[in-house]
Amino acid sequence: MLIRIATEKILFTHKTLRISLQAVCKFSTSNTLKSNRMDRFALPKRFQGSTTSVWNEYVPLALKYKPLNLGQGFPDFAAPEYVTDALSKIAASENPLMNQYTRGFGHPRLVQALSKLYSKLVGRDIDGNTEVMITCGAYEALFCAILSNVDAGDEVIIIEPFFDCYEPMVRAADGVPRFIPLKPTKSDGVITSADWVLDEKELEKLFNEKTKAIIINTPHNPIGKVFNREELEKIAELCKKWNVLCISDEVYEWLVFDKAEHIRMCTLPGMWERTVTIGSAGKTFSVTGWKIGWAYGPSNLINNLQMVHQNCVFTCATPLQEAVAQGFELEMTRLDSPECYFNYLPKDLKKKRDYMAKFLEEAGMKATIPDGGYFMLADWSSLENKVDMASETDKYRDYRFTKWMTKNMGLQGIPPSAFYSEKNKPLAENYVRYCFMKKDENLEKAEEVFKKWK
Ligand code: PMP
Ligand code: GLN
Repeated sequence: MLIRIATEKILFTHKTLRISLQAVCKFSTSNTLKSNRMDRFALPKRFQGSTTSVWNEYVPLALKYKPLNLGQGFPDFAAPEYVTDALSKIAASENPLMNQYTRGFGHPRLVQALSKLYSKLVGRDIDGNTEVMITCGAYEALFCAILSNVDAGDEVIIIEPFFDCYEPMVRAADGVPRFIPLKPTKSDGVITSADWVLDEKELEKLFNEKTKAIIINTPHNPIGKVFNREELEKIAELCKKWNVLCISDEVYEWLVFDKAEHIRMCTLPGMWERTVTIGSAGKTFSVTGWKIGWAYGPSNLINNLQMVHQNCVFTCATPLQEAVAQGFELEMTRLDSPECYFNYLPKDLKKKRDYMAKFLEEAGMKATIPDGGYFMLADWSSLENKVDMASETDKYRDYRFTKWMTKNMGLQGIPPSAFYSEKNKPLAENYVRYCFMKKDENLEKAEEVFKKWK
């Protein structure tokens, strides 16, 4: 009897233990499952580490505080009337096909216009159908150029500061970004964008067997540097030596001042066959909201881009492409005349640049005078004692400064550390980037803000 009771007890205890063990297991399995389930929905590895971009942070900030917006780069004045008129007419056109899909790799009229223009500028016959592709802004051209050429483990050289999407795009391709900063060679007197240079030895050291591509940007955002022939030749020499692709972001190609000359990398000897050049209607015709861009280069490279484009965007907006085509057709009839928008706009913009440089200097900032583009970098560090940024929590001082300015002085700029790799962000903390592609009255308002502050 005793034995039976003892046996039953043991069995009972065993059973309870088993049940509770099962319950524990079930609980932890369900937790593991739960976390596994959540992991399932995390960003894939190639996007991990991504954070909200500076644009997605500063545009909402501008919407909230309504500052004078010298931050995000866009003109606050009207685009040429004939371009916007063309779009209205096209949208209301009797031809219903103007509002339907067009050719995937680019609307025929636009690729023809671009091939005619760039054949002239580059000095070779460019085939609109095979050597030009239309994209959703220069962003998509960059994305296709990078994703269609960079393989896992390939190294891509990126010059700092860089337009911020370059790095995440390279990582999205499982590529390895290798950075090299442009450094100012001067700290006194008038500093121009030409004073920011690459260290040639450092550049040489970056190239190796794993280097697949280098991304260059001329005229440059945010410094405004227009790379000179010698600088481009050095990069070209290394590209040829190491059999490297050059992705040349030339969206500000028409915005050059004074004696600066925009040289297209693809025109250098031996570079056509290894260069994808990128442009933007947003910058060319002051219509950033249209998001029409393009890439041109040799057909084998453009074919690579087409393979990415055809299965994501497939085709870009037809009426916008038609209007941009008409814009180019008109400008091509007067390329050498002062009325040509491409000649007129930089002249007007130069006045805005000089005006901004003056009021920033008067406010105590040290500006870098840009030779191209529509941004100006200024060193604000001498004003630091006038700023109480304690309420701002960002890691880098340029973020704290620009947020403080937006909220307290009603003027927004962009923190240039957004254009540096994590390691080199401290190089940018003393700077702020302002856009001068703004109405004179708004630049005057900006001057007032700085004057009052003084
Ligand atoms: N590259 C650079 C250097 C830029 O500043 C920009 C921003 N406009 C782009 C590419 C993207 O241009 P888009 O608006 O045509 O996509
Ligand atoms: N290219 C523009 C700039 O640098 C706009 C970029 C953006 O809004 N994503 O300000």
